[in-house]
Amino acid sequence: MNEHTLSMRLERVAAQVPAGARLADIGSDHGYLPVALMRRGVIAAAVAGEVALTPFHAAERTVRDNGHEQLITVRLADGLAAIEPQDDITAVSICGMGGETIRDILDAGKARLSGRERLILQPNGGEQPLRQWLMDNGYRILSEEVLRENRFYYEIIVAERAGPVQYTAEELYFGPLHMQARSPVFLSKWQRMLRQKHKTLSSFARARQAVPEAKVQDVTRQARWITELLA
Ligand code: SAM
Repeated sequence: MNEHTLSMRLERVAAQVPAGARLADIGSDHGYLPVALMRRGVIAAAVAGEVALTPFHAAERTVRDNGHEQLITVRLADGLAAIEPQDDITAVSICGMGGETIRDILDAGKARLSGRERLILQPNGGEQPLRQWLMDNGYRILSEEVLRENRFYYEIIVAERAGPVQYTAEELYFGPLHMQARSPVFLSKWQRMLRQKHKTLSSFARARQAVPEAKVQDVTRQARWITELLA
């Protein structure tokens, strides 16, 4: 993967960035996503935010090698602290991290969001707490995609602030739009998850030390929801 050829995962993220956007890519690593979008003429400007020094330097190098220093600003910053009011950001991408980490970044930095940005989020697990944050903060989920690459399933969640939104507990767990669309890749993800839940429950049953009842109940409930979904 590089700024010319994105992974399929980042390619699907790129497809959700509106033409002419001013993008903040938080946790940009090498900066491949904003640089690829700028090379293709999709975005008008970008901020690439990185909290760690090595990826920050890598992003600076990708931007410099492509001659985009005027339009892509690379900032060493924690989460949304990379965004400044004068950036006039219209889309925020946060990709390749756990859903809880993405939620914590959004929550810690929500004062930096104007509410007009499209959020393009690609969590690696932890989708449920992330959807919960979106609902609690008035973001409606506009698009959800699951894709499989290198044996892993990746989710992409696109949301915009729209006032109060209500999702059921099952919708927060599976994704409200996924539940309607029931795509083959979504169903195969949950078939795999069901096998994992059953393995977890058998390991609980074999465990030498008693597993807390609440934990057993929680995994049992998840297995029941998945079974009902796949029925
Ligand atoms: N976004 C790229 C992608 O999807 O391919 C890179 C994903 S990489 C696995 C995660 C990156 O997020 C790392 O470079 C890490 O330093 C950065 N990161 C983690 N927490 C962050 C935070 N709070 N603020 C900014 N960057 C963060």
